[in-house]
This record gives sequence, structure tokens and C-alpha cells, in this order.
Amino acid sequence: MTRDISQVVEKLRTAFADDDAMLRWGADIPVKHCSDWTRLPPVIPLALARPRTTEQVSRLLGLCHETGTPVVPQGGLTGLVGGAHPVEGCVAISMERMSGVEEIDAAAGTMTVLAGTPLEQAQAAADAVGLMFPLDLGARGSCTIGGNVATNAGGNRVIAYGPTRNQVLGLEVVLADGSVLQSMNRLIKDNTGYDLKHLFIGSEGTLGIITRAILSLRPQPATTITALCALPSAEALVPSLAALRSRIGPSLSAFEAMWPDFWQVIVAQAGRKSPFARAHGAYALIEMSGFDCERDEDRLQIALSDMLEAGLLSDVVVAQTSRETGDFWGIREAVGELRSLMGSLISFDVSIPAQSADAFVATAVAALEKRWPDATHLAYGHLGDNNIHIIVRVPSAFDEQPKDLINEIVYDAVARFRGSVSAEHGIGLTKKGFLHLSRSPIEIATMQAVKATLDPRGIMNPGKLFDRRLSREEIP
Ligand SMILES: Cc1cc2nc3c(=O)[nH]c(=O)nc-3n(C[C@H](O)[C@H](O)[C@H](O)COP(=O)(O)OP(=O)(O)OC[C@H]3O[C@@H](n4cnc5c(N)ncnc54)[C@H](O)[C@@H]3O)c2cc1C
Repeated sequence: MTRDISQVVEKLRTAFADDDAMLRWGADIPVKHCSDWTRLPPVIPLALARPRTTEQVSRLLGLCHETGTPVVPQGGLTGLVGGAHPVEGCVAISMERMSGVEEIDAAAGTMTVLAGTPLEQAQAAADAVGLMFPLDLGARGSCTIGGNVATNAGGNRVIAYGPTRNQVLGLEVVLADGSVLQSMNRLIKDNTGYDLKHLFIGSEGTLGIITRAILSLRPQPATTITALCALPSAEALVPSLAALRSRIGPSLSAFEAMWPDFWQVIVAQAGRKSPFARAHGAYALIEMSGFDCERDEDRLQIALSDMLEAGLLSDVVVAQTSRETGDFWGIREAVGELRSLMGSLISFDVSIPAQSADAFVATAVAALEKRWPDATHLAYGHLGDNNIHIIVRVPSAFDEQPKDLINEIVYDAVARFRGSVSAEHGIGLTKKGFLHLSRSPIEIATMQAVKATLDPRGIMNPGKLFDRRLSREEIP
């Protein structure tokens, strides 16, 4: 369908003439809306829309549907697969003006939040009433609840609380044609047909725009204890995780594995201080969240002592102050600074069965080093959730890193270990060529059928998730 751009512009201007802050055009569009954290070459959208209400989102999508204008939803723009990256001629829809916690029901443990609310603000609101919103990730200050839901974000506490999907009770979503799907459920049990909210959780802006969410809150743990563990080798990571799980069970709220290559760069280049006197074979940041002030610390201390005695750990430091806790997490989260320190990098976010994690890292790294002897790499991840991150840099290739070949080598190793090409960041633009390694043809065809039904004109975030959108007639 060919669009008359000047007609689209005119219709948009007329439809939102009552709100000066709604639309921005051309050079007036702030540069941050021309790309996301993935840092792909910037694309200036046709327009930037900043709706304030669900009604405005509905009007906007109705108009874009009618004119066949592509739309790209944008939250905090911290996504790492190019999901919020504008496409040519699109209207980028920023949710920044739809921000705020509308209601907290402390007795029921629920919170109603607008989609553009930064995660950190939602966490603080839960905290203020003595409850906890357990989703947590390094981008907490910028990423939004809408983006978290649309990517089914994981983060640091999946091991205890599950990913974003497990925290969502209800959603309000504006569909591609502008109709508003109210699925604002507050009930934990509700077996009344298809649970539609799950279609939109992890849909990466390809099915509709999430405008509100009802989130589930948890009791605030009475104790949170953080420790840094040094291990004799990376092979000791999985048995250590198993030992801790069997000793402190669901109180284990984080197990962040760090291979020595990661540790060395963070300590030597990112200026973080190691609490250990010497280098070790691997490291793990662990967190215990419990409800027994009297006994939690002792339980953890005994478990760690036994693990030291059994040779699973070679050293442990338990944080004694909140500053020390912050310093320990600072080591793990310094990863956000690596790009400015190390230049051009390729990051991988994959899932691998935990027992194969170290073998996978060794296999991928050996294959990379065979091809480029000067390749450097860092490995770390949320091991309790099977989630491994590898960062690769090939200095000999400077900025012209042979990305396709590096991708092929790493994803080939993922497929060999029966892993997933995306653990928590999604597919977006950068991984769509590898979706077939983790999803069967019939799964992809079913996803395409859902897309064709909910977005028949293909205006929602086109070119993301799938290499090519199929029309209804083409779907087998
Ligand atoms: C330092 C750092 C650390 C990170 N750590 C983690 C981590 O531990 N775990 C993890 O999972 N991710 C992590 N991320 C990735 C990122 O923060 C998450 O994917 C986050 O959920 C994205 O939220 P956002 O609001 O920034 O979304 P955006 O980047 O703006 O958008 C992401 C996707 O969601 C869509 N979208 C956004 N808002 C809406 C909406 N309202 N309705 C429909 N679609 C929408 C977009 O179109 C896009 O496809 C990290 C990123 C950084 C920079």
C-alpha cells in the first residue's frame, strides 16, 4: 500500500491539534528517540508521538491503522536487541508522558501502574508501603514497566520470583486498530478461557501498545544478605548453586556467576575493588532474602562454611554494611560501562542448561579464539536461570568486527547445547535471523498467525521479531 505522507501528517496534526506536546517532527525530535541502547545507526522517525492518555493512544493507532503508517513503541529505550529502534517513515510512540503509579492495594498486594513508569519508581512505591516489586535490573532508573512487560524482562531475581510474566496480573492494551483491550485482572485464579495478557507479555511491541498494568507485589523480606564467593574453578559454579539451593531453598534470591575473564576486566579497567587478596577460578554474587531475622544470617553462614570445607568455595566475603552491598552489586553491574571502556563489543544473552554452562562458554570461546587469536571475551550471567551473557571483542578487526561470523559461531554453540538464542532481551531486530534455532517452524507459523489476526495491516513495530511478516493467506 502506498501512503500519502503529507496526508498522514495532516491527519495527525488535525487529530491532536488540542495537545501541543503530543507531536514532534523532523529536527525537533530529540536524538534519543532515533535509536535505542543497541546503538544501531540512527533513523529519524516521521513523527514522535507522546500520548498522555489511553484515549490518545487509541486515536493515534486508529489513524495509523487507517493510513497504513508503521508505529514503533518506545519505553525507556534501554532494550538491547533494537526492538524500539525506529523504522523508516514510522511514528515512534514514546510512553514517557504516561507515567505514574495510580493505585496500590497493600492488602491485596497489587499495584496499578501506567506503562511509561520507570521501574525504579514502581519499586520505590511498593517499598513505601512495606511491600516489594521484585523485578530488578541494571537499567532500573530508565527502563519502563511497559518495556519490561513487552520484553518479559528477567533481571537479578528471576531465580526466586520468576521473570516479568510472573509479576503481571492484568494489562490494558491498545490494539493495532485502536480498540482498547481491558484485561485488568486482579485475581490470582481466573480460568476463563485464553489468558490474553500473556500474548502481549514478551511481544516486543508487535501486537499492541501496553498502556497500564496491574502488578503483583510480594512481602518485603526481613533480611537481605549479600555475599561474594570465590570458587576454585568455573566447574564449581553449578554444584555451588545446587548446594546453596538445597540449604536455603527459595530464600536464594540471586546467584550471579562471573567467569575470571569478566572479573579481571571489571577490576582492572572499570575500577571496581576486589575484596579478595588473589585471583580465583570463578566468582558468584549471591543474595539471600529471608523472613527470619534471628536465624537467616546463621543459616547462610553455616551453608557457606560447609561449602568452603567441601572445597566448593575458596573464599567468601559477606557484606556487613549497605555500602558494601552496593559495592558488591557494583562489580556485577559495572557491565553497563564496558562499552565506553572497551569500544566496539558484541553482547550475547543466551540460555543454556545450567549443567552445560561452563562447557558452552569453553566451546564458544575456543571457536572464537581459533578464528581470531586476539579475540577477547567476558562471561557472566544469572546462572540460576540458565542465563549466560558473553561479550566478545576482536581488536584485530577494530570497529569492523565481523559480526555475522561471530554471531554464527556463538549461536551454533547455543544450538549444540540445546539452548535458547535469547534468554531475556528478546529478538527485536538483531536476533530475528536466529529465531529458527530456538523455535520450530510450526511455532513460528503460529506466532505469525497471531500477528496477522491482531495486526492485519502489519503496522505494529514492523521488521521486528520476524524476518518477514506473513499475510493470513501465506500462513500454512
Ligand atoms: C545496563 C542495562 C542492564 C540491563 N539488564 C537487563 C537484565 O538484567 N535483564 C533484562 O531482561 N534486560 C536487561 N536490560 C535490557 C532492558 O533494560 C530491558 O529489555 C527492558 O525491559 C527494556 O525496557 P524499556 O522501557 O527500556 O523498553 P524499550 O527499550 O524502550 O523497548 C523494548 C521493546 O519493548 C517495546 N515496548 C516498549 N514499551 C512498550 C509498550 N508500552 N507497549 C508495547 N511495547 C512496548 C518496544 O517496541 C521494544 O520492542 C538491560 C539494559 C541495560 C542498558
